[in-house]
Amino acid sequence: MADRKPLISGNWKMHHNHFEAIQMVQSLSYQLNADDYSHCDISVHPPFTDLRSIQTVLESDNIPILLGAQHCHEQEKGAYTGEVSTGMLEKLNVKLVIVGHSERREIFNETNSQINAKAKAIFKHHMTPILCVGETLDERDAGIAKDKVKIQLDEGLQGIGKDRVGSMVIAYEPIWAIGTGATATPEDAQEMCAHVRDCIRQISGKATAEMVRVQYGGSVKPVNIAELMSQDDIDGALVGGAALEAESFARIAQYRLQ
Ligand code: PEP
Repeated sequence: MADRKPLISGNWKMHHNHFEAIQMVQSLSYQLNADDYSHCDISVHPPFTDLRSIQTVLESDNIPILLGAQHCHEQEKGAYTGEVSTGMLEKLNVKLVIVGHSERREIFNETNSQINAKAKAIFKHHMTPILCVGETLDERDAGIAKDKVKIQLDEGLQGIGKDRVGSMVIAYEPIWAIGTGATATPEDAQEMCAHVRDCIRQISGKATAEMVRVQYGGSVKPVNIAELMSQDDIDGALVGGAALEAESFARIAQYRLQ
């Protein structure tokens, strides 16, 4: 198996104002140690309004947690009320940006081609996209989960060079498992993450497929992370609910100690 450093990411969604966010990150940093950071990369993705505060805490206390964003606009600047550009995120020392989260796709109608444009804009500003893909329960029941993910990857990665694809993170998140408490079995999650890697091999070649980090997301908790992480093609987790509280997120990041 290729040597891929695991990445454990916490997507806070629309939770934690900047006071709560500072407390959360400080508490998280007290629970993590140098071994944890050497074993895996750890990122937090707070709401936009928290980014500057969290950047200041991480940099002033030398905390090696990576700062992430949940969303971005694909244009550099302009009349896009309420939006935030990748150039603005780069200035805050943001390292990773989530794109194509199922909530953005379903609630805000983001398309694969917009997601593709966002991924390119993220690269332009020297950050790494975490591209989310995954099927609904109806699609799974209809036996088209793999087709859906393949289309999301084919269209989402269009025109992105091999080196860049290799540096990306792909989060496989079955929509029926997000925020529901219903986790995919480790075997199902492995099968779909291996499928993601196989799609990347078809798009960008074997070497790129071996480099790309594939996360699983969907009701990840301290009790199920170790078994998920023991699967060959799962290189990390994108965590929602269980990432809001420092102790549970720290235990997820320390899955190897279980
Ligand atoms: C997510 O927000 O991407 C997610 C997987 O949420 P949860 O862990 O709460 O299912």
